[in-house]
Amino acid sequence: MTRFTKITASIGPNCESRDVLTKMIKAGVNVCRLNFSHDTGDVQGAKIDLIRDVARGLNKSVAVLIDIQGPKHRIGNFETENHYPLKIGQKFILDSDPTPGNETRVQLPDADVMKSLNIGDRVLLNDGKIELKVDAVFDDKIETTVVRGDEIWSRRGFNLPDTDINTEILTPKDKADLEYAITKKPDYVALSFVQRAEDIAFVRDFINARTSHPIKIIAKIERPNAVERFVDIATAADGIMIARGDLAVELPFEQVPAVSRQIIRECRKLNRPVIMATQMLSSMVHSEFPTRAEISDVANAAYLRADSTMTSEETTIGDNPVNVIETMNKILSFSDGDAIANPFDWSRIDNVPENDWSRSVSSMAYLNKAVAIVVFARDTEIATQISCRRPDIPIVAVCGDETVANQLALLRGVFPLCDEYLYAQRDAFNAARQFGIGIGKLVIVDDDKISLRTLD
Ligand code: PEP
Repeated sequence: MTRFTKITASIGPNCESRDVLTKMIKAGVNVCRLNFSHDTGDVQGAKIDLIRDVARGLNKSVAVLIDIQGPKHRIGNFETENHYPLKIGQKFILDSDPTPGNETRVQLPDADVMKSLNIGDRVLLNDGKIELKVDAVFDDKIETTVVRGDEIWSRRGFNLPDTDINTEILTPKDKADLEYAITKKPDYVALSFVQRAEDIAFVRDFINARTSHPIKIIAKIERPNAVERFVDIATAADGIMIARGDLAVELPFEQVPAVSRQIIRECRKLNRPVIMATQMLSSMVHSEFPTRAEISDVANAAYLRADSTMTSEETTIGDNPVNVIETMNKILSFSDGDAIANPFDWSRIDNVPENDWSRSVSSMAYLNKAVAIVVFARDTEIATQISCRRPDIPIVAVCGDETVANQLALLRGVFPLCDEYLYAQRDAFNAARQFGIGIGKLVIVDDDKISLRTLD
């Protein structure tokens, strides 16, 4: 069975050698994600060069996605390296004083965050294990009460699920990282902690001021205000990542599956690819086999017809990253086949108008029992729109440009074929044959011309 759901693999210490990367790409990786929260600059640059080299050697289109850390907020230091217990009901102060904290107070280094908090807002520390409720707001301090207690120590990250944080999407570190990354021509840039459509516009301007290379922007959805403004954000961005790690801290965790399902549906309507991320096979950091629940989670992403699933620590620091990709590939391949053989109608409903041309392409393929759609892809737009109709047959995208082919590697059911000759000749039959199709009807899309031809 051809796998339609793509695999985005986070690349880290345990999978950045040529040998392991080669095996992972052979096993099915379509997108390599480099997380700039960890390595930056030349270290990441060398990895991008290696990924490009390995993919070209294997004659595979693989997208490079760089993930920018974004404004992750942290408290200041404590007097000692000890953990301080915070008890339910006690008062605790967050202030602008840089002197080390104790059991009654600690610094909140970011002035923008201090100004954004309101009475009643929650401050979540240690992945939500500690909850503080804001009682009073002053220019230089925030008074809170501990609602849920745990041990706290220096430099812990925190989340503010109720607060519209009035801060720039790119920190000085992010700007330096992005400035460098742009020179390496990544296919996608993922932005963390997006809150509004203006964040995307700001980063697009930042990129466009420095390059004419068509880098696409992925908005990571991990804040409740981003869920509320989802349509505006997705419209401004080129794609979406459901960043379930932070999302499950900032939203009540039981809401995350429902929100994820809704996001995937909306993305199809808006013609935006969507990546389902975080903890998909996390037990495989050390285990040879996934848990039953993880198998279901990966399969569900296929049944929901997401564009891509994603690995995190299981490939970056896992014992056997190649086994992780083989496992994900096996689950997705089976589930994609089953989803097509036994479709649930709701998963195909996308509220796209009857007369939308991409819907006509999909219907034409369906009514004529076509075996593939062949698209001549000058850019990513036409193949993206057809992919979002989820036609459930392969979309062979013939490209004359390597960047277009690499970007299309993320899209559900799109199989890029980067071949200048086939592209120039508009040779749909040989493109289908190269993809392994010997016989059957093809729907061929060449700009605004749509035709049906039989390969025999
Ligand atoms: C997440 O929070 O789920 C995520 C993908 O982001 P990061 O790995 O940057 O925390």
